[in-house]
Amino acid sequence: MSDELIQSLPTGLFIGGKWLESGDGGRIDVADPATEEIIANVASGTPDDATKAVDAAYAAGVAWAATAPRERAEILRAAFELLDSKKDELAVIISREEGKTRAEGLGEMAYATEFFRWYSEEAPRIMGHFGRGPAGINNILVDHSPVGVSLLITPWNFPAAMATRKIAPALAAGCTVILKPASATPLTALRVGELLQQAGVPDGVVNVLPSKRSGEVSNRILEDERVRLVSFTGSTEVGRILMTKAAERVVISSMELGGNGPFVVLEDADMDVAVDSAMVAKMRNAGESCIAANRFHVHSSIKDEFAERFAAEMAKLKIGPGLEDGVDLGPLVDASTRDKVEQLVDDAVARGARVLTGGKRPDGPGYFYEPTVITDVDPAADILQTEIFGPVAPIVAFDDEDEAIAQANNTIYGLSAYVAGSTGSALRVAQKIDAGMVGVNRGFISDPAAPFGGMNQSGIGREGSQDGIHEFLEKKYIAVEW
Ligand code: NAP
Repeated sequence: MSDELIQSLPTGLFIGGKWLESGDGGRIDVADPATEEIIANVASGTPDDATKAVDAAYAAGVAWAATAPRERAEILRAAFELLDSKKDELAVIISREEGKTRAEGLGEMAYATEFFRWYSEEAPRIMGHFGRGPAGINNILVDHSPVGVSLLITPWNFPAAMATRKIAPALAAGCTVILKPASATPLTALRVGELLQQAGVPDGVVNVLPSKRSGEVSNRILEDERVRLVSFTGSTEVGRILMTKAAERVVISSMELGGNGPFVVLEDADMDVAVDSAMVAKMRNAGESCIAANRFHVHSSIKDEFAERFAAEMAKLKIGPGLEDGVDLGPLVDASTRDKVEQLVDDAVARGARVLTGGKRPDGPGYFYEPTVITDVDPAADILQTEIFGPVAPIVAFDDEDEAIAQANNTIYGLSAYVAGSTGSALRVAQKIDAGMVGVNRGFISDPAAPFGGMNQSGIGREGSQDGIHEFLEKKYIAVEW
């Protein structure tokens, strides 16, 4: 049944409300990571197609920016209702192209659709302000206007949510967009584009341009005078390339980049809470999440107990294709992601780490890797400095709070962090960790109503919350005399 669904999906470029073929006839193969089989192929946009997408977004921009906020809000609300009614179908599409389980796909859809509801509520509340200058003789009026045509580039790990987290605030602000989804997962994005059109989003306001020539296509778009913003979610490495390119024309840049989240377990932690939240923070999306707990720093007095209980929970997880009943852990997205995880674990073990559970790839097709806990990890091991992006938990010990904070902050990143401990000590440590988001006695931190983003080399800007819409608005100060 899921094969029929996949075959029924649109596979063209969605530009100006029409489905077009690629200018050079190029196609992108989409594989099912559970079987390694190709399940679809979609058109791959060229730089000339990218210019067509800018033409469409620019042409639609004036009318969309002039559409009353209430009317934009109602279209966003309709998008929420329609996507929500299609969540089962979208969860299947996500699972087939990305690998996550059906339950994880439904969880992603609940998060993804909520951005349309949240920003339908924010669209009519774009408030400026009025004030009197300190000298008492002049008046200050501050207004907001949409930045204009925006390029949105998204990764494969949450193919629906990473797109909607950008599209919804952009549309609420009055911007038009070109979405370039990851080449591994274009089907979800194309279906979202089709559904948005059905929900009443005018042609050209949302354009979806898959392309395996991502560098050339984004360069063409960023060189176009009509484009004013790039909002990127992906690796820090590609983020740096895009920021350099954006600097040429001083294009506004919003960056959600990689992470290396520490999970700190303090001496006074409740062990049940610590293990439960560790499972959630580590295993969401098989560890392929930018906010995944990447490394576990545990007080030396409770390290062995935590490690054993965590390993016992990990060992219970059933691996298999994401749509199969009873499966807890799907495959990783592709061979190179799986090979990198394997190599990080092998390197740590060669440096003396002990494997408590897992530690290898299972036999058979699919990019699976066992849920793994390793302890006594060498502080110099790559696995502590590299984003693992897989179901692997390395554990290291600390002796006091200062050492815990130093270990946690020993990274170029600063996206997520987690602390388990009594409320007072956990909050004290949370305030000293350099991260944009900290979970205290909680492994799940994503919330459309909260500001999502990182410090240091994890990014610039925030998505979600009231902040997210302001990424797509320019402030305008008007000096008023009357
Ligand atoms: P990626 O390799 O950086 O790719 C992300 C997107 O950028 C894809 O659409 C990709 O297209 C495109 N891209 C690649 N090279 C490009 C270039 N030179 N110019 C313009 N676009 C380019 O990241 P990924 O492997 O898909 O995703 C994993 C990374 O995303 C991890 O580091 C993760 O932490 C990060 N992430 C961050 C957040 C956050 O909110 N901070 C959320 C999720 C993921 P192709 O697929 O066609 O190459």
